[in-house]
Amino acid sequence: MPLIVQKFGGTSVADSQKILAAARKAIRAQQQGNQVVVVVSAMGKNTDVLVDLAREITDRPSAREMDMLLSTGEQVSIALMAMAIDALGNQAVSMTGAQMGIRTDSTHTKARIQSISTDRLRQALDEGIIVIAAGFQGIDEHQNITTLGRGGSDTTAVALAAVLRADACEIYTDVDGVYTTDPRVLPEARMLRQVSYDEMLELASLGAGVMHSRSIEFAKKFGVPIHVRSSFSDIPGTLIVAEPEDAEQPVSGAALAKDEARVTLLGVPDRPGASLAIFAKIAARNIAVDMIVQNVGAQGKADVSFTVLREELPTTLEAVRSAVDELGADGWSQDDNVSKVSVVGLGMATQSGVAERMFRALADAGVNILMITTSEIKISVLVSREQAALALRTVHQAFELHKPPVHAPRPVAAPAGSATPLEVLSRLQSMEGLRINDVSLDDTQARLTINSVPDTPGVAAQVFERIARDGVLVDMIVQSCGVGGRANLTCTVPRGDLPRSVALAAEVVRELGCGPVTSSDQVAKLSVSGIGMRSHAGVAIRMFQALSEAGINVEMVNTSEVQVNVVVEGRHGGAALARLEETFQAARG
Ligand code: ASP
Ligand code: MG
Repeated sequence: MPLIVQKFGGTSVADSQKILAAARKAIRAQQQGNQVVVVVSAMGKNTDVLVDLAREITDRPSAREMDMLLSTGEQVSIALMAMAIDALGNQAVSMTGAQMGIRTDSTHTKARIQSISTDRLRQALDEGIIVIAAGFQGIDEHQNITTLGRGGSDTTAVALAAVLRADACEIYTDVDGVYTTDPRVLPEARMLRQVSYDEMLELASLGAGVMHSRSIEFAKKFGVPIHVRSSFSDIPGTLIVAEPEDAEQPVSGAALAKDEARVTLLGVPDRPGASLAIFAKIAARNIAVDMIVQNVGAQGKADVSFTVLREELPTTLEAVRSAVDELGADGWSQDDNVSKVSVVGLGMATQSGVAERMFRALADAGVNILMITTSEIKISVLVSREQAALALRTVHQAFELHKPPVHAPRPVAAPAGSATPLEVLSRLQSMEGLRINDVSLDDTQARLTINSVPDTPGVAAQVFERIARDGVLVDMIVQSCGVGGRANLTCTVPRGDLPRSVALAAEVVRELGCGPVTSSDQVAKLSVSGIGMRSHAGVAIRMFQALSEAGINVEMVNTSEVQVNVVVEGRHGGAALARLEETFQAARG
C-alpha cells in the first residue's frame, strides 16, 4: 500500500479551523488508498512564545530544560490533530518523538537524529490508523527529550519518509512553493515546478526559508521526493528531487542576503595554518563564514576577506582581533553595509559563459561588484546594500528567470522505496552523519591573477568576456575586496590555456591601466564533496587543519553546500590529496 507523509507547519495548524482543514487533507489522502503519517509543528508562533517565556525567567536557561519546554508545543498540536481526525470519523493516534523511537544524540536544542525504530509506527499504520507524529523532537540515550533545532519538523518529516520508505513527502506551508527568488522582493519571481536538491540547498542557505536545510540534505541522501505546497490553496506547488526543472538552463534561482558584513584581515603572513588560525577562532564562536577570499600573497603577505551575517559582526571582530595579534597581521577592516547576490543552477556546472553574463548585466546596470566567489553551481557577488535590490532584479532579468522553462523536466528517479531494506538499515545507522562522497585532485589547472584592478563597475565583465570570447573555460573565480580602491581578480583556467589567457588579460590590463598579471601553471585544486557540508560547518576547517599540519599553504578557497575546494601549489597536490583522504576517511560513504 502506498505510504505518504504530510507535514503541516505552524501556520497550517495555527487555530482549530486550520487543524480541522489539515485533518481533512490527511483523511482524503487515506481515502485515496494511502497509509498516512502526519507530522505537525507547534501551533502558530507557539515556539517563539515558549522561548520568550523562558527568557522572562532567565537569560541562561539550561539547554535540557529548554528542550523539555519547547517540545510541549508539538505535543499540543499532535493531540488536537488526533482529536480532529477522530471528530471527523476516522482513526488516529498521536505519538511523541520518544514514542516513535526517534533516537538522537544529546546535543540539546540542536540534536541530530541517530535512528528511528519503526515497529510501533508500522503497527498502527497496518491497522489503518493515521499516525500523528510530533515534529522537531526526539529522545537521547538517557531518555532526555531533545529538539532538532528551529524549523526541525521538516527534518522529522523527511526522516520518517526515509525510514518508512514513503512514496511521497508533502510539506504543507504558507507559501505556494519554491520561487525563482523571493516574490516579496521581486514581484516577477516565478514559482518553480521542480528544483533539484542541490539547488534547494544553496537557495535555502541563502535565505529562501521554505525548508530547513538539514531536511533537504536528508531527502537527498535517501532520495525522498519532497513536494512543497500551500495548505491554503490547490496550487500544485514545487517538487524537490534530484533533477532540476530544466537541465539546459544555467540558472534556476537567484537570492539576496541583504544583511551581510565583510571583514578583511590585512597583511596576514602567507604561511600554512594562517587561514586555519582565523577561521578556527570564528568557528569556535559558532559563526558561519561565507565568501572566503584570499589574495594571493605579495611579499609573503596576504589579505584574507570573508563575509558573515551583519548581526554576527561584533562577535566576529572579537575573533579577528585576537587572530590579528596572534598572527602578527597588519590589521583589519570591515564594511557592514553590504549584501550578497547569488545565482544558483545545476546547469552552470556544464555550461560556460554564465559568470560573464552575470557580470555584464551588473555592469550595464551600474552595479559595482565588491567581491566575487564561485562554486560549481553558484556565483555570488558582494555589492553595497543600496545596490542590492537593483542587483537582484538585474540578474533575475539577465537569466530570464521569470519565463517558464522551455524543456520539460527529466523524469524523476525512483523514490526511496527502490533501496533494499538492508541498505536503508545500514544507512540509517549514521543517519545524520557527515557523508563525504569524494575527495579529489585536479592538477590540470593553472592560476591567473590580475592585480590592482580598479574597483569600479564593469571590470569583471570586461576581463572575463575577453577571456571567454576566446573559448577559455574559466573555473574558479574570486575577486578580493578592494584595498585603496583596487582589487585583485583571480581565476583558474585549464593549464593549456594559460599562455593565451595571460595574453588576453594583458590586453585588458593595458586598457584599464592596472596590473601586473601574475600566474602560476603549477597549481592543484583539491575538492571535498558530500552531503552535510553546510550543517557540518567544520569541513573547511578540517581541510585547513590537515593541510596546515602537512605544511601546505592554501592559495584559494571556495565553499558551497555540497563541496569545498582549495587551490594549493602544484607540487603539493599529491601530498594534499593523501592528507585529505586520510582526514575524511571515516566519513566516506
Ligand atoms: N516548532 C518548531 C519551531 O518553531 C519546529 C518547527 O516549526 O519546525 O522551530
Ligand atoms: Mg516552524
